[in-house]
Amino acid sequence: MISQDDKEARSKTLKTVREEAEGCTRCDLYKNATQTVFGEGRRSARVVFVGEQPGDKEDIEGRPFVGPAGTLFDNILEEAGIDRKKTYVTNAVKHFKFEPRGKRRIHSKPNAGEIRACRWWLDQELTIIRPDVAVALGATAARALTGKQVPITRLRGSVVESAEGVPVLITVHPSYLLRIPNAAEKERERERFAKDMRKVKELMKG
Ligand code: SF4
Repeated sequence: MISQDDKEARSKTLKTVREEAEGCTRCDLYKNATQTVFGEGRRSARVVFVGEQPGDKEDIEGRPFVGPAGTLFDNILEEAGIDRKKTYVTNAVKHFKFEPRGKRRIHSKPNAGEIRACRWWLDQELTIIRPDVAVALGATAARALTGKQVPITRLRGSVVESAEGVPVLITVHPSYLLRIPNAAEKERERERFAKDMRKVKELMKG
C-alpha cells in the first residue's frame, strides 16, 4: 500500500526536492559545507547510483561525481554499455563532512545519525524515480539504502532489497579503486567493479 508520504513525494519533481534540500538543516553538516550537493539525472533513469557524500571538489562545484573518481566511474559505465541518460547519481549524505587540516579539508565519514537524517532526501529521490535497481557504492550508501550495516567485502556483487523493496546491488565506491597502490591489484579490482556494472546493466529493464 502506498503511504501518504509516498503519494506526496511522487507528486513532486526532482527540481522541487532539490530546491527544498538547498535549505536543509536536518543535521549539522550544512554548517561548514559550501552547499547541498543534490543528485543529478532524469526522472526516467532506470538506475540510481548512490555514493557516500560529496568530496572537496563536489562541494565547491555543487555537483556529485566530479573529479578523478567521477571520471573513472564514467569510463567504466561506458565500457559496461550503460547509457548515462538512463542513470541518476546521488550521495547518501548531501553535505561535505570534513576536518580542516591547515588549508586542506580532509574527508570525514558520516555517522549513523547523519545518514539517517539525510535519508529524507534519498527516499524522495528514489520514490520519484522508482528505478529498476539502486547501486550502493560503498558501506555508507549500503547502510542508507538498506537501513542496516552491510558487510561490503562479503556481499559485494550481490543484490539485496532496500527497505522499500528496490533491488540494491552492493559494490565499492570508485574512489576506492584510485587508492589501491599496487598496479596489478588495482587492475583486478577495476575489472571486478566493471563486472558489477555489467550486472547492473542486466538488472536495468529499459
Ligand atoms: S547532510 Fe543531509 S540531512 Fe544533513 S543538513 Fe545536509 S542535506 Fe540536510
